[in-house]
Amino acid sequence: MSTAPVPITVARGDGIGPEIMDATLKIILAAGARLAIEEIEIGEKVYLAGNSAGIADSSWESLLRTKVFLKAPITTPQGSGFKSLNVTTRKTLGLYANVRPCQTYFPFVDTKYPGMDVVIIRENEEDLYAGIEHRQTDEVYQCLKLISRPGCEKIVSYAFEYARAYGRKKVTCFSKDNIMKMTDGLFHKVFDEIGAHYPEIEKEHWIIDIGSAKLADTPEVFDVIVTSNLYGDIISDIAAQIAGSVGIAGSANIGSAASMFEAIHGSAPRRAGQNLANPSGLLLAAIQMLVHIKQADIAEKVENAWLKTLEDGIHTYDIFTEGKSKQKVGTKEFAQAVIERLGQKPSQLKQAKYDANVAVKLYEYKRPAPAKKELIGSDVFVHWGGTPSELAAKVNAANSNSNLKLVMISNRGTKVWPEGKKETFVTDHSRCRFKRPDLQSVVDKAELVTLLGDLNKAGIDFIKTENLYTFDGEYGFTRAQGE
Ligand code: NAD
Repeated sequence: MSTAPVPITVARGDGIGPEIMDATLKIILAAGARLAIEEIEIGEKVYLAGNSAGIADSSWESLLRTKVFLKAPITTPQGSGFKSLNVTTRKTLGLYANVRPCQTYFPFVDTKYPGMDVVIIRENEEDLYAGIEHRQTDEVYQCLKLISRPGCEKIVSYAFEYARAYGRKKVTCFSKDNIMKMTDGLFHKVFDEIGAHYPEIEKEHWIIDIGSAKLADTPEVFDVIVTSNLYGDIISDIAAQIAGSVGIAGSANIGSAASMFEAIHGSAPRRAGQNLANPSGLLLAAIQMLVHIKQADIAEKVENAWLKTLEDGIHTYDIFTEGKSKQKVGTKEFAQAVIERLGQKPSQLKQAKYDANVAVKLYEYKRPAPAKKELIGSDVFVHWGGTPSELAAKVNAANSNSNLKLVMISNRGTKVWPEGKKETFVTDHSRCRFKRPDLQSVVDKAELVTLLGDLNKAGIDFIKTENLYTFDGEYGFTRAQGE
């Protein structure tokens, strides 16, 4: 074990950030954490100084050097010009795994679920959070959901490796692959493929809706949950809240080049500057950081002192319960109480125990040989305010120079031509599917250009195209509902 101080980058953030960071650093340094701290400024001040990402270029230099970031929450100013600093940091540093332990501290922190101890592992870089959005017609807006094979393999592998490193027994995958058969279908498929390499770990899959209902009802049946970005964002807040409070949950964001540790809550501006905030979320994140930088002994010491403080009924306002808690304290007094208990252990709550050598093995993605990819058609999306049969007539009249044929029109994914139902509501955003008359012969891209040229000449306002490919003979697109 090295005793040299480990360089880390610290940002005190906004709102309650500076107070909870101060408390956290005081506690871990008092416990003997060996750290060389570099501070950077992020958040509101940086945004308002004209940096739309909320982080100055010079701050990246520290982050890229230390590769370990302990971050307090920030306030994102209102307005569309400001980018989420969290999303930027996670994506720029490739922090693909968001790890959120949601554990109860019953009976010292109120919860309906005393037995809950779930770790949510959320994919952090892709899905709807790619932030690729477009308005395409008067009525329709689009957000692209991008799911990649490397993204799925890295996060699923992380979940299984995490379970193995921390002696967890089961990994559950949440997806919505009954509806999104290609994107969520890939996530589920990769879960099955990678899971097969972990015979000692129990595996299960739940459709996200009923899975979330079950998580909210009987969280004690879950152990590790792996899911994609948006679902993970939602269920991890629910899980943290039902475990006791979002105020006492920390999270780690892990990638192969760097890692970031933060509380899951925000900057709580209304509580700022009043010595009220609970520093526990950030402290638990710092404990995850200490384990990550191989100071497991310090992590254990801090967590046990913190558990003992909870047991002794010394609580900040957010977890204070009349009759159960003994003393309502502010941020500073809470930190002091934890420091006074360094070296002590809880007597009822489960003691923290970290293996000094614990490490989650990170996945190395290897790109496989490319599949045989063939173009067999195209979906041309058009801005059209008339009926589907009027559109079909106009398109067919215009399409005179290509060997492609209009085979179907759908509106928001439901087939409306041919043989649409008059009851189906149609917006001004239609998809025209073109294929060869035999529906499967290979198409030359030049023909698509000819087709678009003809549609353009006829005044048909096409918004975008999506090509229809097969990959090793398998369809790389879905059918419309009713096609
Ligand atoms: P919030 O998490 O800041 O607050 C939600 C509620 O929880 C409030 O009632 C607050 O008082 C309470 N709370 C949160 N943390 C607490 C703590 N440590 N101790 C005691 N009580 C606590 O969420 P919000 O009000 O929606 O957002 C406020 C700001 O934080 C916004 O600008 C938002 O963009 C930002 N935010 C930042 C992050 C981050 O930096 N990671 C995350 C979420 C929100």
